[in-house]
Amino acid sequence: MKFPLIPEHARVSLQRLKTYNSTETLAALEKLLEPLGGMGAFVKPGQKVLIKPNLLSGKSPEKAVTTHPEIVRAVIQLAQDAGGEVSLGDSPGIGSPENVARKSGILTVVEETSCRFVPFEKSVTIHPTGGTFQQLEVAQDVLDADVIINLPKLKTHQMMGLTCGVKNMFGAVVGLRKPRLHLQAGTDKAFFALMLLELCETLAPALTIVDAVIGMEGEGPGSGEPVQIGALLAGSHPQAVDTVATELVGLQPHQVYTQQQAIQTGRPYTQLQQLELSGDPLESLKMNNFRPAKMTDVNFGLNRGLKHYLRNALTARPEPDHKLCRLCNDCVTHCPPEAMKIKGNKLQIDYDHCIRCFCCQELCPHGALMTKQGILLRLHNFLQKK
Ligand code: SF4
Ligand code: SF4
Repeated sequence: MKFPLIPEHARVSLQRLKTYNSTETLAALEKLLEPLGGMGAFVKPGQKVLIKPNLLSGKSPEKAVTTHPEIVRAVIQLAQDAGGEVSLGDSPGIGSPENVARKSGILTVVEETSCRFVPFEKSVTIHPTGGTFQQLEVAQDVLDADVIINLPKLKTHQMMGLTCGVKNMFGAVVGLRKPRLHLQAGTDKAFFALMLLELCETLAPALTIVDAVIGMEGEGPGSGEPVQIGALLAGSHPQAVDTVATELVGLQPHQVYTQQQAIQTGRPYTQLQQLELSGDPLESLKMNNFRPAKMTDVNFGLNRGLKHYLRNALTARPEPDHKLCRLCNDCVTHCPPEAMKIKGNKLQIDYDHCIRCFCCQELCPHGALMTKQGILLRLHNFLQKK
């Protein structure tokens, strides 16, 4: 896994901003980035810069579902002024990237600024090392960028508690592969949060800028209420930015699954004491009555039987080759959710608990774990090749 260089303290900058007036937004953004060295500290002339906003679904900017177009405009301008070749892309949860970008006002900004629009379409499998998830599928455009600017909207999230810097990088997973990854991580939110953390660490955005001018409370990320927060946040480490964002809206770390998982796995920048804050004081921006999301499970309302079917049909899973397996127990002791056991001289996998991380396949010294693709996944791959 590509862990970013970790300085002892991460700096997070905060800036008050009450409206999306374009002049004020640009001025506030410049002020926000000043303590971090300005945009020039992140973007060098000639570099390929990818801006990754939140383009969840095709809603107008006032609904606060997507990153506001004026924030996008200001970020594009600063990145272009720094000499970057700027493109913008995402893979929405619902709808085509063009339609979503058009309805959210972002495509107009992209066209007006001569930025390149890159709807994420081509997906490639990467093999991060050092973490739990040994296979992840991400958009080729994300891997092609020299610099990623992560541009989330601060919103509640009914499954993860909050969507901000870490969760926004899940948009790098293309289209229908998103629900597949949800299914892959199983019913355990902690494993899904861990996958989000590992994905974000692997993609390592250079700069995260949060649109928290108008955020979302209640039933986010798509159906909550817009709420005035009145702030921009920025930092080079998404985890650090999320720690400040969590504090800003008055949530506890245990209410945000990625935060909780980061703390439990000993990741840095989960405590305010580990951070250097610059700009407007956090205390002066903090919200008192932010309404958290009603939490739901990871089943998307599907009944257990259907979810079980879809999970098996849409994901790949490890399958032991009993002729090759020497019953050495290595995979059993390293399986993160303890879904493996040896019973009656046979290796068994409990697929209801298997999170499809493929750690077992990676470490088996005898190559005894094969990959079996579900029927719908095989069909999907077949149709893609045609
Ligand atoms: S690590 Fe390989 S050989 Fe050992 S028990 Fe697991 S599958 Fe069998
Ligand atoms: S059985 Fe293999 S793929 Fe499944 S959770 Fe365990 S280690 Fe991961």
